[in-house]
Amino acid sequence: MDNLNIRKINGYTVQLVADRIYALDEFGTDIIYLVEGEKRAMLVDTGAGLGRLKDTAKELTDKPIFVVNTHGHVDHALGNHEFDEVYMSEKDEWMIEPSYMTKESFEAFCVRQMAEPAYTGPDLGGKELRLAKPAGYIEEGMRFDLGDREFEAIGISGHTKGSMVFLDSKNRVLISGDSVVSTPILIFDTYSTSVEAYLEDLKKLAAREGEFDLIFPGHFLRPIGKRYLFDLMECAREILSGRAEPEPGDFGHMSSEPALVHRYGLASIVYNEKHIRK
Ligand SMILES: [Zn+2]
Repeated sequence: MDNLNIRKINGYTVQLVADRIYALDEFGTDIIYLVEGEKRAMLVDTGAGLGRLKDTAKELTDKPIFVVNTHGHVDHALGNHEFDEVYMSEKDEWMIEPSYMTKESFEAFCVRQMAEPAYTGPDLGGKELRLAKPAGYIEEGMRFDLGDREFEAIGISGHTKGSMVFLDSKNRVLISGDSVVSTPILIFDTYSTSVEAYLEDLKKLAAREGEFDLIFPGHFLRPIGKRYLFDLMECAREILSGRAEPEPGDFGHMSSEPALVHRYGLASIVYNEKHIRK
């Protein structure tokens, strides 16, 4: 039987996951969320810009759309060029500037994506890289009003310096990017800060756990529960206290830096010596 909550639009797998929240799976690469309010719709992330995201979002809402980025990584912010009103943290802007994000590095990314077993998108050979400046910067505590609902930006330094999560406490929903996901949290490369900074910011989020039930992450299974947040905190504590017994991880396709994987409960963190303390 067809699942009426799941549709294919322009190659994106679209799922209604909560009240007026759609998850758009960008060909197995990442998850984008579209949240509709009475006046405006907010798109959380734009993926890697591999498909026709704006046309797809417009099939789901007739409200004017603006974009917030959870962080500046290639698989979350490269579709920004399709939209006029995009906000991101200033701390991550360098990742999508032409001096850093080159045609060559985008081509290499496309080749890697197509080689992923989960990839369901088009052939990316000759895919053009298009970069865009954000319209504004997201600051801690900033609120995005959609009419009858709003999201508050909460900074979670760790995976990147400018990573943000977005909380709709009225509807008890948190959209978490790569800061709280079911897959390993990567805090080991040039983008990352430290496990110490990450734990500090997770504590800030945990102090508000009474305001949300479901967490919608930027990759894989969604939603996930708060157990991931608490296990990630304990995982980080074990790394900081020296109690962790990590295994070496194979993340050479992402960075030449060494990668250690520590697991606790449902959570895992990828880090190395340089990224433990601030
Ligand atoms: Zn990321």
